[in-house]
Amino acid sequence: MTSKPKTKVTFYNGLTTIGGPMIEVAYDKSHVLFDLGEVYRPELGLKMEDEDFATLLKYQLIGDVPDFYDPKVTGKEIDHERWEHSAAYISHLHLDHSKAMNLLAPEIPLYAGPLTAALLPVLNRDGEFLLPAADKPKNYTRPIIAAKLNEPIHVGDITLTVVPSDHDAYGATGLIVKTPDKTIVHTGDIRLHGYHPDWVRKFMAAGKGCDMLIIEGTGVSWPERSEDDSEEFKGVKNEIELTQRIVQYQKDNPKRQLTFNTYPTNVERILRIISDSPRKVVLHAKRAELLKLALKQDVPYYYLPEDEKIDALDPDLEISYQDLLKDDHQYFWQVVGHYDQLQKGGLYIHSNAEPLGDFDPAYAPFIENIKKRGIELITLRCSGHADVAELKEIIAGFEPKILAPVHTLHPELEENPFGERILPKRGEVVTLS
Ligand SMILES: [Zn+2]
Repeated sequence: MTSKPKTKVTFYNGLTTIGGPMIEVAYDKSHVLFDLGEVYRPELGLKMEDEDFATLLKYQLIGDVPDFYDPKVTGKEIDHERWEHSAAYISHLHLDHSKAMNLLAPEIPLYAGPLTAALLPVLNRDGEFLLPAADKPKNYTRPIIAAKLNEPIHVGDITLTVVPSDHDAYGATGLIVKTPDKTIVHTGDIRLHGYHPDWVRKFMAAGKGCDMLIIEGTGVSWPERSEDDSEEFKGVKNEIELTQRIVQYQKDNPKRQLTFNTYPTNVERILRIISDSPRKVVLHAKRAELLKLALKQDVPYYYLPEDEKIDALDPDLEISYQDLLKDDHQYFWQVVGHYDQLQKGGLYIHSNAEPLGDFDPAYAPFIENIKKRGIELITLRCSGHADVAELKEIIAGFEPKILAPVHTLHPELEENPFGERILPKRGEVVTLS
């Protein structure tokens, strides 16, 4: 007599670090893997071409996951007899959740929310976003299946449901995994202070009472930071307030050069800035191209003198760079370099743009360089991650039987008033019975 199969969850990576979660749920001959990112460690100084498979494993930038990666990358065949049904999923397009997606074996389907599926190939159009696939041009992006939101996807005995969520990556989703006997929820990166807290609450209701909640815990990573830390450090209360502040700077400074930058994948923030700003918002051509190719949206843009022309952009919407440099009242424009050409006395808003923060060695020199040119620098951040109180609220919404915190420096600080809390080690298999 053979025993009944059990649901197994294996935690391959991204547990006590911020980013790069790689987790497998397996049942009998079916298994799924989520996500496919690379842990971000700028201090290693690795260039994309240094990041071969052995290096990625050596620094634990990805998980050593069997039977999912392309044999051309690993040198190991996939055991298709053991696994009759396989699929993978990425929750959102941040690199710590997506960068390694091209390493997935070509025959294994990869699912993501529709916006994530549309944006990733465009973000990787120069081959500088994702790790390259074996035997493909550098800018190749493997197929991603745009999941229909809230509709079940069958992978043998396992069912995946991709649901809308909220994070500072446009189109972020969460995942509900059902095996014949268990339900596992993967929050992806999540918050309640973005544009769509209602979507997060629906997600919580859909996953309520799950057997296991795999939750990100970025917000509990710095217990030493106190409540009264400066706003520069903590950021504004929510995304709505962030846009309001940006509008207010424009109203308060009718005659001053005003510039900004944001992170490319926070598309919704830039769309809101464009729609709400009193000034005409002008993007660098590369960013305008992203909106055009992924969302078919046309926006005013400019080229730097060294830029090549982009065919996809409407020539009628081009604003000359020289006009932007001279302007002090008409434009609010995205600056991406050449800070030495900005007007002294102008104001630049750094809104979660690169370099992202103190942990990046490039950050301090960047800030210093702008300030010394007599430009006022405002950092206007809004976190993509739930804070301590929001994490508690999210856990309370799901009421999980088992809580598995990942994607945090301090998983032990997330608690589960509704059941067990586990702290899996890297590579640990948890059998649900
Ligand atoms: Zn993220």
